[in-house]
Amino acid sequence: MPFDLASRLAERRAAHLYRQRPLLDGPQGPLVRVDGRELLAFCSNDYLGLANHPEVIAAMRAGAEQWGVGGGASHLVIGHSTPHHQLEEALAEFTGRPRALLFSTGYMANLAAVTALVGQGDTVLEDRLNHASLLDAGLLSGARFSRYLHNDAVSLAKRLDKAEGNTLVVSDGVFSMDGDLADLPALCAEARSKGAWVMVDDAHGCGPLGATGGGIVEHFGLGLDDVPVLVGTLGKAFGTAGAFVAGSEELIETLIQFARPYIYTTSQPPAVACASLKSLELLRTESWRRDHLNQLIARFRQGAAEIGLSLMASPTPIQPILVGDSERALKLSALLKERGLLVGAIRPPTVPVGGARLRVTLSAAHSEAQLEQLLEALAECWPQVQADA
Ligand SMILES: *Cc1c(COP(=O)(O)O)cnc(C)c1O
Repeated sequence: MPFDLASRLAERRAAHLYRQRPLLDGPQGPLVRVDGRELLAFCSNDYLGLANHPEVIAAMRAGAEQWGVGGGASHLVIGHSTPHHQLEEALAEFTGRPRALLFSTGYMANLAAVTALVGQGDTVLEDRLNHASLLDAGLLSGARFSRYLHNDAVSLAKRLDKAEGNTLVVSDGVFSMDGDLADLPALCAEARSKGAWVMVDDAHGCGPLGATGGGIVEHFGLGLDDVPVLVGTLGKAFGTAGAFVAGSEELIETLIQFARPYIYTTSQPPAVACASLKSLELLRTESWRRDHLNQLIARFRQGAAEIGLSLMASPTPIQPILVGDSERALKLSALLKERGLLVGAIRPPTVPVGGARLRVTLSAAHSEAQLEQLLEALAECWPQVQADA
């Protein structure tokens, strides 16, 4: 019996690291039915509340009527249809980049961009806390791979000095488990001075950040020369599915020619692109969602500080409560669930050992009253897990 899966699973369970999938019985929204119970959820990445927006649903329905369901083939064969093309043009305009290329998932966009740009003899430098898809992409590329200290331009500079070949510096824009912003002005300046390129994965900034939702590059005012490779995803604040890489004409043509995760996969259903086009329009023009979200973020941080919760340095809708121990994080999540609230406990290996946390995420779809409900429940439950410490 070479595969002892039962012991592997038992070990994971014993370490309080076993994962289970809550079964959602209905659309995304603040109020969800999960495992047969109605709960108030603070764990979705639908930051602007667009995943169940009537106009986005209507756009997808109309898209299916006009374009059918399946993408049919890869983009290079016969799968690249008008809605995909229109979405790429709209995303290029939105990001202020010459071109954008559409992917079915962010994971694939990251694999594609990194592996098409660097290989053997090159160097890829990544923030230690980067998303798993970026770390996987770096390893898959075959380039020399090194991780610098979180958000640390000095640590990056040391590695840049030793880098060989084409060098790609890769960072999350908003760190997915901490909610903090990449210090892009410093990191980009360092990379530029050494002739390296910067790639930013702005899965969590695109939509919530920036005056028009343009994400971290809009927030810091960074152009193509600072961030030659910009990735955004559509499954989070856009409320739909897919991702894009935005950059120069040559970058996009390089991906079309050489990126295997782009070439060897079926295009996303065109109706999904129709939905994303509608989301993009709502997200750019209706800034009240960002304003409301920012009010919720400020109120949460103020309320959490009063309770004495250990928050992280996050100005974004990702507001983790650091617990430390996995078992206590699970307990806090369970206590909240007893009170009708759903907040996921994030444990290693998704976060560093000893860094278990409740990943609270806020959405423009939450009301102020719902946020107060969360704060009241936390005020009751937090002392109970503190007593176990
Ligand atoms: C979610 C996420 C991805 C993956 O995007 P999908 O479209 O869900 O595959 C990539 N990078 C970061 C930082 C993410 O949070």
